[in-house]
Amino acid sequence: MRNTKLFAFLALVVLTAACGGKGSPNPTDPIGGNIVPTTLTFVSGENNSPVAGASVLVNGTTMTTNASGQIVVDTLSQGTTMIVTAGGFLTRTTKYQGQNTLTLWPLTRGTTSDYFDKLLHQEFFQGERLTRIPTPGTVSIVPGEGFSGVPRAMNFLDEAIPEINRFCSNARVPLQYRVADSSASGTVFRIEMDPTITTTGVTIYNPRNSEATIYRITGGVIKIRSLAHLEGNPRTILHELGHTLGLGHSSDRATDLMAVAGSQAFSPKEELAAMMLYLRSPGTASPDNDTLP
Ligand SMILES: [Zn+2]
Repeated sequence: MRNTKLFAFLALVVLTAACGGKGSPNPTDPIGGNIVPTTLTFVSGENNSPVAGASVLVNGTTMTTNASGQIVVDTLSQGTTMIVTAGGFLTRTTKYQGQNTLTLWPLTRGTTSDYFDKLLHQEFFQGERLTRIPTPGTVSIVPGEGFSGVPRAMNFLDEAIPEINRFCSNARVPLQYRVADSSASGTVFRIEMDPTITTTGVTIYNPRNSEATIYRITGGVIKIRSLAHLEGNPRTILHELGHTLGLGHSSDRATDLMAVAGSQAFSPKEELAAMMLYLRSPGTASPDNDTLP
């Protein structure tokens, strides 16, 4: 008896829903058919596990993800802005673009929002803090004459390449660093000796830093002051290759290679940053806002 009543009630609900909007068409559904709710799943970028208990502000309403990391939104239009807040993750501001699974940046391995902000959102254009996103594929390191003519310097480069490739393998992307000749195309970084450098010893820049490529690392020049500088700072090339991955500077000297005068090896925190950078960039503005163009 209960079941019959329940069924009748549900049938009424379905009929009501089916007839809903008669005479007042929903602007998101001009044909007049039923609105299909959208299920969104939120997962951790570190291991794809569902993120339960996340707050999602969408269409003016805050919803909370269930144990499966899901919410169901009745009407969700492309371009709708969502703000996702979850303990242990960067707050993500994003526009819905038809994707049913959204990845959140984990704050694990001792990382914080400030840490990622500093490491990944370099201030490099009119005071804006924007993410530099590397271009997947083959990255060629082309030694200039003054560099390739110094066998000891080439040894440092040859040692750094496998290390950065090991690092890239944690980044889950097809990215391959290699030493190449000057005919290389694609993402190319020239590496040169430049004795005129007196400040930091090394500079790196993107020569095609135009409006169209401002978020993309497409190549550049690595400058080493001298062989003596390199021998005094043997991980310098690896640090510079870290910049070509899209990493900025860390202030964590005790553990991080990307800190100035920092560690001699990449830390688990830096590996997480690079892995996430290639899995999904942390938005175009800090800390995780990908609503900008
Ligand atoms: Zn640096």
